[in-house]
Amino acid sequence: MVTPSQSLCLTCGLCCDGTFISGVPLKPDDEVAPLKAVGINIVSDNDLTVLKLPCAAHKNCTCTVYANRPQVCRTYKCKLLKRFEGDDTSKQSALEIINKVKSLKNEMNELAFAASTTVQSADEIISLLKKCQTDPNIGKRKQDYAHVLLKFGELQIYLDRFFREESKFAPAPLDRSPAAPAEIQPPALSKV
Ligand code: SF4
Ligand code: SF4
Repeated sequence: MVTPSQSLCLTCGLCCDGTFISGVPLKPDDEVAPLKAVGINIVSDNDLTVLKLPCAAHKNCTCTVYANRPQVCRTYKCKLLKRFEGDDTSKQSALEIINKVKSLKNEMNELAFAASTTVQSADEIISLLKKCQTDPNIGKRKQDYAHVLLKFGELQIYLDRFFREESKFAPAPLDRSPAAPAEIQPPALSKV
């Protein structure tokens, strides 16, 4: 039987598709072979092994390696899911938030396509920002890039507000310094 939480996640998938998380840290007893067999990208650095997102096993909002999914995937809950389970957010509101994020992503991708660039990651946004600041030859395209950057910012504010436990992009409160550009990164190698 599908629980209300599973039903919500099956319409969402924003944690698996890399929208606001860059990777899932694997535990020593996670089985890697079934994950690699479906084309999941797994990287190791010293003693940290990470499943890179977007996850190749995520198809049609479903985990195609469900029985073998890593432990972190089994326990992960974004802020929205926690609020939904705590009755702080109705299913209708949660679905509206998820749909809004998906629509912002689509709008951003369309703007990026029109500007002949890509914005699949924060790294690409940073290089776009650098290009705007340093490349004297981009001319009119600068305006197109600015639209992409604004949409990216709007999306990140939504993700901060409703999905991430720790804000990465939201405007800082008055008693805190604004985030430095170097901090504009997806949560590094963590699904928690
Ligand atoms: S982002 Fe949250 S609501 Fe969406 S699938 Fe992941 S845990 Fe579920
Ligand atoms: S293994 Fe399954 S639950 Fe984990 S990130 Fe991939 S699709 Fe999502």
